[in-house]
Amino acid sequence: MESDKNLFDDGKRQMRLCNACRYCEGYCAVWQAIEWRRDFDDHDMTYLANLCHDCGDCYYACPFTTPHQFGINPPKLFAQLREKTYQKYTWPVAWGKALGEKISGFWIAFLLATLLFFGFIFATNDPASVWQKYTGEGSFYALIPEYFMIGVFSALGLWMIGVWLIGARKFWRDIRSSKNEKVMFQDIVTATKYAMSLRYLGGEGEGCADTDEEPATNRRWLHHFVGYGFLLTFASTSLAAFYAHILHIPAPYPVFHPVVILGTLGGVGMIIGTTGLLYLKLKRDPDLTDEKASKSGASFIMALWTVNVTGMLLLIFRETAAMNSLLVIHLGSVAAFFFTAPYTKFVHFVYRYLALVNYANEERLAKEEETAPTVKNKPKTAAHHKAN
Ligand code: SF4
Ligand code: SF4
Repeated sequence: MESDKNLFDDGKRQMRLCNACRYCEGYCAVWQAIEWRRDFDDHDMTYLANLCHDCGDCYYACPFTTPHQFGINPPKLFAQLREKTYQKYTWPVAWGKALGEKISGFWIAFLLATLLFFGFIFATNDPASVWQKYTGEGSFYALIPEYFMIGVFSALGLWMIGVWLIGARKFWRDIRSSKNEKVMFQDIVTATKYAMSLRYLGGEGEGCADTDEEPATNRRWLHHFVGYGFLLTFASTSLAAFYAHILHIPAPYPVFHPVVILGTLGGVGMIIGTTGLLYLKLKRDPDLTDEKASKSGASFIMALWTVNVTGMLLLIFRETAAMNSLLVIHLGSVAAFFFTAPYTKFVHFVYRYLALVNYANEERLAKEEETAPTVKNKPKTAAHHKAN
């Protein structure tokens, strides 16, 4: 990958050319955002990179891609810049670089976490108990006590959210560095609507270039499967906590219990979404992608897939002797996912959402400026009347 300075300088060069051309106006929020700027600094490039959702439409429309001497390629440029964002804004930065550059980070953490959970079981139980069958209320906690699981996953959850917040604060400070106007509540509402509907992945109705020049909406639907699947599993986990700690009914719950229904729908949704996204990634035109960014994106998708597949296997085989081993493997995958989440592409949703809030703010101010009365039409003030 190019050095940071070369990459940012080349990005500014490309955006200046695009701002003179403006053929891609209306393709996505990036093109409107560059029109609101006369020139670009490094923070603008970081902002634009996280506003791009990597569809490829502008690349296929552009007559100035390689072999043209201008060498314009916004999707590849922004993919490289996003990788820089994930490393620059995380904490500790050295970990971000180490784990971000090693696509095997999740898999090493998965192996270590699984071994640690097995080690805990062997240290606190008779080794033969791993192969025993436990069923009924509280069977998940037969070998690993509930308090231990709560402690480990609360600490990992706080770690993940804490590092995300540190990165979000630094990212926000940079992309807002040249702004004086305050963000209003309505900007947050607009950005949330854009994010929840994946508005720009829809290509304003036609869809985006998922794998080649032909517009399609597959990528948008697969993102919906992953996003809403994640929310359903989160709802399932929260409801399970309510049942366990408020109603004092321990897991596992029956198949038609709301906790299991929500978890199953969410898990299946995420397996469909991640499998489809991986397929689209493999089929994607290599000219649009940066090899390293593509590998780390695929690694993240496979990590999410692994968490969900191990969770579904646990659900299917929870009444058998395989339950203990599957529970340990699933816990290992979730622990690794939480631990590496601040350094993988998962953090993209944090930066993208903040970029959309900044965009909604700019959009509102531009509209207000358009509708503001001109000097000629401006109503006369009391002071003006007085003076005359
Ligand atoms: S990507 Fe190409 S066609 Fe689109 S605005 Fe830039 S220079 Fe023009
Ligand atoms: S690749 Fe798609 S999302 Fe990214 S700048 Fe081009 S048109 Fe916009």
